[in-house]
Amino acid sequence: MPYAITLIPGDGIGPSISEAAQEIIAATGVEVKWDVQEAGIPALAKYKDPLPQSVIDSIAKNKVALKGPLTTPVGSGFRSINVALRKEFDLYINLRPARSMAGLKSHFSDVDLIIFRENTEEFYAGIEHYIDSKKSAAETIGVVTRAGSDRIVRAAFEYARKHKRKKITIVHKANILKYTSGLFLDVAKEVAQEYPEIECNDRIIDNMAMQLVMNPHQFDIIVTTNLFGDILSDLCSGLVGGLGLAPGANIGYDAAIFEAVHGSAPDIAGKNLANPCALTLAAAMMLDHLGELGAASKIQRAVADVLKEGKMVTRDLNPEKYVGTTEMTDTIIDHIKSYD
Ligand code: NAD
Repeated sequence: MPYAITLIPGDGIGPSISEAAQEIIAATGVEVKWDVQEAGIPALAKYKDPLPQSVIDSIAKNKVALKGPLTTPVGSGFRSINVALRKEFDLYINLRPARSMAGLKSHFSDVDLIIFRENTEEFYAGIEHYIDSKKSAAETIGVVTRAGSDRIVRAAFEYARKHKRKKITIVHKANILKYTSGLFLDVAKEVAQEYPEIECNDRIIDNMAMQLVMNPHQFDIIVTTNLFGDILSDLCSGLVGGLGLAPGANIGYDAAIFEAVHGSAPDIAGKNLANPCALTLAAAMMLDHLGELGAASKIQRAVADVLKEGKMVTRDLNPEKYVGTTEMTDTIIDHIKSYD
């Protein structure tokens, strides 16, 4: 029986990298019945609603979605559909691995980091307003709860235990945000006591940013609140070769949405320049989540092999000599087929 999966192609480079990911999954032999749904700008244009009910119904039914990036208008316009989906399905875990792969130009090798970003609370929740009609000031309310902190930290420790990871670093700003970040830190330290076999320390966010850039090898799993996790995950993708390679998963109790860390890249949309790897690696995480471990590892191996060979890669990876999205995708597919 094919898997029923919701596909949101997204906008900008989204449709081209989504198509690449679909073709790559098909090459593994895993059968999928895609339920294609529009959200964001394309949905606004077609249905006058950036998040039609049909998208929510589809994800609620299928429980798993692969999502291309969606543009969020800056300042005015509709609010982030990405954030709305995370809230709608209570996708409280944002899991973002950052791993070095051979053949990539980056400042470090052998980086292997995993970020657990709390995905539903704090400053990303969008509780904000102007204080008056003249817009003389604006305020954002960042709510951090004991239950919300507990479940994300617990998810990080459970992952560490299952995957035999050694260390967790709690990242916060409890010296200044004594209540919100302070609560997160207190809860995280309480949870850590239940996992004595896993080393645990904490870092203040600004120091953490510097430490990651100086010596990322001292870290293993990072658990943090929503906004800090957003910023640190882009930083970590930069440590291993850039945004074109960074996948992410949004996981809740009842549904999971897999996507790239990067956005819709309007500067390169429609030019066959987008690196398909981030969404493809997110698709591998999705197959892993579905229990298709063999297909997931074939995709990871094919991406790693193509990067290592370095000949058929997109412009972000080799600006001097590069191929397009479609050519890189075809090369990944050829590798997958050669493993049979
Ligand atoms: P971006 O990630 O889209 O692009 C940043 C830079 O990285 C650009 O130079 C871009 O060309 C490059 N880049 C990104 N992905 C690439 C890829 N696959 N291959 C090659 N180069 C790639 O960030 P931005 O420009 O700040 O955001 C654009 C839009 O995307 C915004 O509206 C933002 O809100 C949205 N966004 C969406 C998501 C999501 O859907 N989850 C995530 C981040 C940003």
